[in-house]
Amino acid sequence: MTDEIQMGLMQPHPLLISSLIVHAERHHGDGQIVSRRVEGDLHRYHWRDVARRSRQVARALDAMALPLSARVATLAWNGYRHLELYFGVSGSGRVLHTINPRLHPDQIAWIANHAGDQVLCFDLSFLPLVQAVHGKCQTIRHYVALCDRDALPSDSAIPGLISYEQWVEEQSDDYHWPQFDENAASSMCYTSGTTGNPKAVMYSHRSTLLHAYGAALPDSMAISARDVILPVVPMFHVNAWGIPYAAALAGSTLVFPGPLLDGKSVYQLMEQEGVTFAAGVPTVWQMLLDHVKGEGLQFSTLKRTVIGGSACPPAMIQAFQEQYGVEVIHAWGMTETSPLGTLCTLKNKSLMLPEEEQMKLRRKQGRVLYGIDFKIVGDDGGELPWDGKTFGDLHVKGPWVVRDYFPGTDNAALVDGWFPTGDVATIDADGYLQITDRSKDVIKSGGEWISSIDIENIAMAHPAVQLAACIGVSHRKWDERPVIVVVRREQMALDRDELLQFYEGKIAKWQIPDEVIFVEAIPLGATGKMLKSKVRQMPEVAAYCALAASRQ
Ligand code: AMP
Repeated sequence: MTDEIQMGLMQPHPLLISSLIVHAERHHGDGQIVSRRVEGDLHRYHWRDVARRSRQVARALDAMALPLSARVATLAWNGYRHLELYFGVSGSGRVLHTINPRLHPDQIAWIANHAGDQVLCFDLSFLPLVQAVHGKCQTIRHYVALCDRDALPSDSAIPGLISYEQWVEEQSDDYHWPQFDENAASSMCYTSGTTGNPKAVMYSHRSTLLHAYGAALPDSMAISARDVILPVVPMFHVNAWGIPYAAALAGSTLVFPGPLLDGKSVYQLMEQEGVTFAAGVPTVWQMLLDHVKGEGLQFSTLKRTVIGGSACPPAMIQAFQEQYGVEVIHAWGMTETSPLGTLCTLKNKSLMLPEEEQMKLRRKQGRVLYGIDFKIVGDDGGELPWDGKTFGDLHVKGPWVVRDYFPGTDNAALVDGWFPTGDVATIDADGYLQITDRSKDVIKSGGEWISSIDIENIAMAHPAVQLAACIGVSHRKWDERPVIVVVRREQMALDRDELLQFYEGKIAKWQIPDEVIFVEAIPLGATGKMLKSKVRQMPEVAAYCALAASRQ
């Protein structure tokens, strides 16, 4: 007996992003990519064109003498040129840094400097933004406008600005993708930074490819060659949840909405292009549902949609499913998890349950896909039971979960190899996860926890409520009490008492909010999440909190 391990005798091809586009070109070359352009028209071409032009991008970067691992930033909508950068930049060994254009300009400049970006490629819609920040971006040496040669503004005041089409077309497409370590950095994305400066997650080729396999699994997004996919989730928000990579892997058709994300534009594009699968955050889907409902329309090709990024209101799941026959897959993830962590597809035994019970499960954030493991822990760090009731801090691990934030100083604070997500959750005996809160948003009333998400979901099920945010307000006797901040639907009446009555019978009496505060709008962050810290600062809300404090 020898103790030496026998190595496998299989080919050691590294898992590189370039291999996805090589595959898409060879095996799905005539698969379509449709993009609504900033210019307003629809652009159509095929995977083989994406591959050809990605190679030209790679050569254009070589021509700039950009070293391996140099960061190439984008400020761009979902579209074909952005897709070419996904493959051209990462495939050539550079790092694609997708910047969220909805961030404050100072934050964008901070991010670009922190990442050390050397090139910035941007859609012309963001020209004013780039004009505002380029003086503060110390490392960017090249600016590329994602437009045709003749659309390049002559008076942009941005030094050396070149059009993408000129930049790419000057290059031959004769290029061989370099082979390197699959653990090399491929792309990076900053977290939304609701607390302090944003943090940079740097993905590797390996993590991206494994995540793409995971994304395509049947109990995940079930992405196939038969799908026509519309990623409404932006390519600047965690790589559009990995859809561009998974679509290349599966050979799906891609439909990009460009800058038009209103309900009418998204619906028209879906119908016109025969979209079968779409993904996005609840706020965008609300606009779509409002449009479809208002106009009395139906979806003729859409079969399923993944909704995540923040809790999907049960009323939305029900509306899609019962009124329009569209399956909703509720998903949880974060920038730090690439982002897919859990998706809510049912197990066989759950399908035996009565409809109502099944719907209860569908409201949860779902089960982990292979590659991720999770646990909930208590204050002492000990693992808590999976009983669907006990909640604790959610920790995750896996090959597409962050180990460290860029530039890498052990700052992701792993606990025994697990990443503490900052979310609070329950897990039931079948492994369905339910997020109850961000840990900082948890409300503690009389020693008992109240889930702000539960309180919001009930309010959102009221037909006159457009958006609702639940916050905890200090209370002399109970520590904290929930208060619900509500935006009413246009032209719909709703008063405090009616909404409070609506809670009755749906949750325990002591969980019903103490007060309803009506506001015109709820502040949303750059990725469409409600910003509770800003909600607290709203004059109406701040006044209530001050009053509550004075009663202490
Ligand atoms: P981000 O990194 O910007 O994508 O934000 C990740 C955070 O969004 C998570 O830690 C959760 O707090 C929240 N989140 C994402 N998906 C969901 C979901 N389905 N339900 C509740 N919260 C979610």
